[in-house]
Amino acid sequence: MLARFAEIQSGSQLAADVCIIGGGPAGITIARELTGTGLSVLLVESGGLEFDKETQNLYRGVNERGDFSLHKSRFRLFGGTSYVWGGWCAPLDEQDFESRPWVPNSGWPISKEDIDPFYRRAQSLFEIDRYRYQVEEWDFGSTPVFSLDPDKLAHRMWQISPPTEFGPVYVDQLRKSENVRVLLYANVTKVSVDPDGSSISGVTLRDLNGREARVSAAAYVLACGGIETTRLLLTSGQEAPGGLGNTEGLVGRYFMEHPHPDAGGVIFTTAAEDFRPYYEKEFESRNIVVGLGPSADAQRRLGILNCSVAFHGPLYHEPSAGMDSALKLSRALEHWQWPDNAGAHIATVLRDLDDVLRESYLRATDGKIRGFGLIARTEVAPNPDNRITLTSDRDELGMPRVRLDWSVGELERVTVEETVNLVAQEFGRLGVGRVQINQLLLENDDRWSRNLSWFGHHMGTTRMSDSPGQGVVDTNCKVFGTSNLYVASSSVFPTCGYANPTLTIAALAIRLADHLKVLAKSDRLRES
Ligand SMILES: Cc1cc2nc3c(=O)[nH]c(=O)nc-3n(C[C@H](O)[C@H](O)[C@H](O)COP(=O)(O)OP(=O)(O)OC[C@H]3O[C@@H](n4cnc5c(N)ncnc54)[C@H](O)[C@@H]3O)c2cc1C
Repeated sequence: MLARFAEIQSGSQLAADVCIIGGGPAGITIARELTGTGLSVLLVESGGLEFDKETQNLYRGVNERGDFSLHKSRFRLFGGTSYVWGGWCAPLDEQDFESRPWVPNSGWPISKEDIDPFYRRAQSLFEIDRYRYQVEEWDFGSTPVFSLDPDKLAHRMWQISPPTEFGPVYVDQLRKSENVRVLLYANVTKVSVDPDGSSISGVTLRDLNGREARVSAAAYVLACGGIETTRLLLTSGQEAPGGLGNTEGLVGRYFMEHPHPDAGGVIFTTAAEDFRPYYEKEFESRNIVVGLGPSADAQRRLGILNCSVAFHGPLYHEPSAGMDSALKLSRALEHWQWPDNAGAHIATVLRDLDDVLRESYLRATDGKIRGFGLIARTEVAPNPDNRITLTSDRDELGMPRVRLDWSVGELERVTVEETVNLVAQEFGRLGVGRVQINQLLLENDDRWSRNLSWFGHHMGTTRMSDSPGQGVVDTNCKVFGTSNLYVASSSVFPTCGYANPTLTIAALAIRLADHLKVLAKSDRLRES
């Protein structure tokens, strides 16, 4: 069933077994999983089926780094940020879940093995091939992938979703569902707690026309995206000072994003054909991307984070800072975004105009390909000082806006530099190419970190742990100290690997839906 908040009388009291807050990939996945279970499910979504500016403005906030805007890196309508996403899917690696002594605050309380069955189930949501992310499982035809030294380098693999827009693709299934109701234009502005302080008594809904209602449910799932889920916990602090689930002051800490630096380029010393698995994006009639990254052994030996590099380009000329900036601008514009540091990029393009014009001319006239650019996507170390807090400024619904204060450190820069070094060493050993590193990666001031691209991966601020002293949610994604409040979001990731987050978000959402079904069967949905 699908309704608009305006169709409901203001002041109404709604009831459900499960209330899901947010209709992005996480919320829609849980709602689909609970379809046909006999549970009454209410999914409340801030936006409508189409993008509208007034609703989107609720996402405005302050990013102290200034390199992306909080209201341009996430989208507030049914389907959430899948409205603009790129569709790159990959699971986290085994070592991403482990506690690594050289990465402070690393380690998940669950293993890759625990989540693998859910990755397999999540796969089909994205309209991609079956779950296979090892290059050995694919047929690359006459040109095999390189035989890499496992002490140094390992292959990375993504399957590319069409990209699935969760709103349009799944709306009809939920509309037809008898036990799932979707309520559009309904913003949750507060989560309230019973006087005992542990079980959630209800949530307040509000729209932009001042109408209000309340929902009470046996269990609640916050699925509003990494930043907004955190904001709701921090805001709902009237009964619980400092915010819900925040007795240890951890809500909002450990913010992570994946920096995407242009890492340099590969100039062929062999036939371009030898690189086919790395630049061609279609094999077995599927869209995939093959990349490279430091092996688990190399990460341990060098004391670095997980990382990946993938080919982009092609390059018709040696890599240059101007072309780098021109590509960043054009990639942002492809996503209908105007980068906040556009001025600096335009200045770099103008400074390097000769190179930019030469390469653009060669691209336009199909000049001879010399190589490919390398784009990196690196893990960041979880750091408690990278933090979301609330400002005194309020949005149109009266909710405090968010401030994001964070930095990317030296370990991340060294990780990308070492990854490019490993690629250079391996390509040298194999005699296939020469790697030119982007000079910005060699600058150990924060200049390099101002030259990164970002793609809305907001992770870490309600991290999972097996103890309330070290995290915000337990291994079932339930908020510590509450009996019936859960989180479905990348905000629960304690570390983030290099993999784009949405496949993992969906896998964890399916796992959470299974948990709710088990609780419901044994009448323990309201676990107080
Ligand atoms: C340009 C771009 C490219 C990307 N490319 C990729 C990619 O290639 N691969 C990948 O894995 N990821 C990618 N991402 C990230 C991906 O979009 C997110 O990981 C994913 O959308 C997160 O899903 P979610 O459901 O947790 O949150 P969202 O998709 O953000 O959905 C949250 C939902 O909650 C609703 N909501 C928010 N607040 C409230 C409230 N108070 N009350 C009710 N509802 C509320 C919102 O309207 C929204 O529908 C990209 C992101 C961007 C910006």
